[in-house]
Amino acid sequence: MGNPEDETDTADAWGFATKAIHSGQDPDVSTGAVTVPVYQTSTFVQHGVGKHLGYEYARTGNPTRTALQSQLAALEGAAFGVAFASGLAAEDAILRLLDPGDHVVLGNDAYGGTFRLISQVFARVGITWSAHNLADTESVGTDWPEATRLVWVETPTNPLLTVVDIEAVADRCRQSSRQPITLVVDNTFATPYLQQPLGFGADIVVHSTTKYLGGHSDVVGGFVATNNGEIHDQLCFIQNAVGAVPAPWDCYLTMRGAKTLPVRMDRHNENAAAVVEMLESHQAVKTVLYPGLESNPGHDAAAKQMSGYGGMVSFRVASRDAAMRVAEATHLFSLAESLGAVESLIEHPGVMTHASAANSPLEVPDDLIRLSVGIEDKADLVADLEQAMEVA
Ligand SMILES: *Cc1c(COP(=O)(O)O)cnc(C)c1O
Repeated sequence: MGNPEDETDTADAWGFATKAIHSGQDPDVSTGAVTVPVYQTSTFVQHGVGKHLGYEYARTGNPTRTALQSQLAALEGAAFGVAFASGLAAEDAILRLLDPGDHVVLGNDAYGGTFRLISQVFARVGITWSAHNLADTESVGTDWPEATRLVWVETPTNPLLTVVDIEAVADRCRQSSRQPITLVVDNTFATPYLQQPLGFGADIVVHSTTKYLGGHSDVVGGFVATNNGEIHDQLCFIQNAVGAVPAPWDCYLTMRGAKTLPVRMDRHNENAAAVVEMLESHQAVKTVLYPGLESNPGHDAAAKQMSGYGGMVSFRVASRDAAMRVAEATHLFSLAESLGAVESLIEHPGVMTHASAANSPLEVPDDLIRLSVGIEDKADLVADLEQAMEVA
């Protein structure tokens, strides 16, 4: 990688794991440091008025952030990437592309924080919205209001793991005879290792990098990828003008986590499959919600657009009480919100993560348990869940 020119010629052909480790990760020119340094600085010296090395002030640009943006954009197969201080800050930046009077179509079981942002923040400045079942390929697009300018898809969804056929929604957006509709896909659950929405017709991909991309429950962050130069320019303007930028340390941690994304995801897939197999045959379990199950309504779409089914598993038990007891009886699965890290987590969405979605159109069944299956030994995870069900 001595010559950066050579790198750009070959980088597009690299495999995913090579990109995860090398994209944007040029050795530091002044010292040769192999790892991108944490540029913990707020400003950059100029050698003449207005003459600098590409960086002036760290809200506008920071080399650690640039490296992260290149790395994650490469993973999404995107030309451009813009990093933010959190997943919701990234979502906020995307929604700022809209004007008053524009309408947002949203999946009816999108992340609770996305509902809150649109219905309680953007609705106040004249953005209208409606929630739809985007997973029904037959009806998708038939009931979108005239003013629709943006469609917000999440797949698989949180916490019901519903799969939306990205290509089918993208076709509907394109078919619109009215003004152009921008398709946004929240790819947080699948990660770019398992699903690359831009290849299925999405205009924008958004991530909470707090989850699988960071992968270690030690940093909050957000990211937007796109191939559209105009959208990229607008997002860079918003990133600088609004200022919800990630700190250099946060960029470093996210970048370090993302280097091991492929190996972690392989293990998440494998462990989740073992957990699903046990739950499927357990008498206390009513239903298992996992896109990898052939019986799952979204399985065909998942098989088309995902290369693996990921580490998130939800299941329903006899009652709300039973669900609460199971969630409190595990030892290895920690009872906590969030997801996507090396350690396994368990939660009760009705009371925990989805309390913020109380006013949303989403009805989360109160007998539902959500697991974020980590990368521990799968036998230990299965045994822990089995004993918790026994106790409960
Ligand atoms: C966590 C999450 C978000 C919000 O991201 P933050 O980093 O917590 O701001 C958005 N979408 C999904 C699917 C999430 O799981």
